[in-house]
Amino acid sequence: MDLYDYNTVKRILGKHGFTFSKALGQNFLINPGVCPKMAESLSADKSTGVLEIGPGIGVLTKELCKTAGRVVSLELDKRLIPVLDETLEEFENIEIINADVMKTDLNVLINEKFKNCASVKVCANLPYYITSPVIMTLLESRLPIDEIVVMVQKEAGERLCAQVGSRLAGAVTAAVNYYADSEILFDVSRDSFMPSPKVDSVVIRLKIRKEQRFKIKDEKKFFTVVKCAFSQRRKTALNSISNTMGISKDRVSAVFDELGLDLNIRAEKLKMEDFINISEKI
Ligand code: SAM
Repeated sequence: MDLYDYNTVKRILGKHGFTFSKALGQNFLINPGVCPKMAESLSADKSTGVLEIGPGIGVLTKELCKTAGRVVSLELDKRLIPVLDETLEEFENIEIINADVMKTDLNVLINEKFKNCASVKVCANLPYYITSPVIMTLLESRLPIDEIVVMVQKEAGERLCAQVGSRLAGAVTAAVNYYADSEILFDVSRDSFMPSPKVDSVVIRLKIRKEQRFKIKDEKKFFTVVKCAFSQRRKTALNSISNTMGISKDRVSAVFDELGLDLNIRAEKLKMEDFINISEKI
């Protein structure tokens, strides 16, 4: 069954009475070049377990099933389960679970489903409305995974993979930098999807670091400072931190002075070391 063929996809979806839900970010890939390239980027083999989020009608899932030992896909939309049963019937190494990724304990799931796998990776064409929360959950939950290859909106991908201290950086950039090495792998144009979204996408890779590159005494405080510093992007980092953390301007200024930081600096100019130092002194 050719899931890249527009008419085949229309026929299967029509047979199951399926209509696209914008709210669930349902833009299905129909460009035949993309999924094989994503699966190849993941460098999985038969000892690898892959967790997929949002299989849709299974176009990427198929490619993952060909290369990985075991694939578990979480799909929130129950209307897609009978479609997936049909499109993936030739594979024995797939398990589809009708669940919301944001409400699933991924540590429990991975330990249960992939216990015989040498490594576990995550691969997905992520629903756009939950890109950052999903990535943050994957990173912060300290899952036993070593790599994440996901498709995200181009702008989100550029932010996720930016350098901390550059114009594109945001709070999520610092979080990614803390846990992983990130890179943009390739672009995917909006006409690769059915229906076509309003923006282009990119595929990114996050390689989870085994050894922490940054030593942070109080992670919670560090992430609070980062989030607060970026929460009011038009203001100086000093004002944002002071306003949103409820700490007096004098106190924050004293910390900036002690660290030799310009009092007018904006969050996007601060480096990882600066955020770490601020969070330790504040
Ligand atoms: N992987 C397919 C593809 O590339 O064609 C579909 C990708 S589509 C962008 C996103 C998929 O995620 C949809 O199938 C949607 O129903 C599913 N989805 C949306 N929210 C979800 C959630 N919270 N948990 C699990 N799946 C979700």
